Amino acid sequence: MGPNVQTFIGCESSYDEADVVLFGAPFDSTASYRPGTRFASSAIRSESFGIETYSPYQRAALEDFKIFDGGDLDLPFGNAARVLDTIEAFCGKVHDEGKLPVMIGGEHLVTFGAVRAAASRYQDLRVMHFDAHCDLRRDYMGESLSHATVMRRVWDLLGDGRIYQFGIRSGAREEFEWAVSHVRTELYTIRSIDSCAEAACRYPVYITVDMDVIDPAEFPGTGTPEAGGVSFKDLLDALLSLKGLDIVGFDICELAPHYDSSGVSTAMACKLLREMLIAYS
Ligand code: MN
Ligand code: MN
Repeated sequence: MGPNVQTFIGCESSYDEADVVLFGAPFDSTASYRPGTRFASSAIRSESFGIETYSPYQRAALEDFKIFDGGDLDLPFGNAARVLDTIEAFCGKVHDEGKLPVMIGGEHLVTFGAVRAAASRYQDLRVMHFDAHCDLRRDYMGESLSHATVMRRVWDLLGDGRIYQFGIRSGAREEFEWAVSHVRTELYTIRSIDSCAEAACRYPVYITVDMDVIDPAEFPGTGTPEAGGVSFKDLLDALLSLKGLDIVGFDICELAPHYDSSGVSTAMACKLLREMLIAYS
């Protein structure tokens, strides 16, 4: 008999056998507008039983891969630095055991912990960042660790030309001005995905999806909705086109299930996660 514990659908491998380790990082303490992303991973697990394990897009199913769902990390709410240390240590162990870490946020700051673990193990790491927001502030209200600064902290680690942003449509003037000479930013859409994939194809790649990149008409379940976003289908096509890259980790963040009482946003996050797991496993 095994433990009767809920996992993401189709992710029932043991840790030892697994090639992929899925986990939740339920942290939302720096949310500047509406909190609630700490509930994303548990909502995604329970709602995942509403979707199929099979992807008609990729003609493969989750059971075709060895994926372990390790549940949620125990994170000390209110202490962002220790939260990031915990995530980095967990991802580091997963990397060192030859497995692929896959994180369900949480607010977007959690990505910094996962990228730190990848960057210290993979030289010349590139980051593909899908988001409505630049997340490039040097600090936010005096705090260097925030969902609004996360990609700037990633830049501190990686330097110029390593971060590719897509779907961006919100930020402070200084962020957009700073971005021009430090990161590659595509405004509003994700049409440059092929040329970015070509530029990144010789390097290890980390992919982070802030779900608010999707238009809030389709995906209202997020803390900082921003009109004028991409469609689910455009995002899915872009992510599937990255399939051949050397992907060393990825995450989806910023689902806040309670802001969408219809449940559609959570179901959409489940579907996107299924597709990414199948594509990158
Ligand atoms: Mn973000
Ligand atoms: Mn965002």
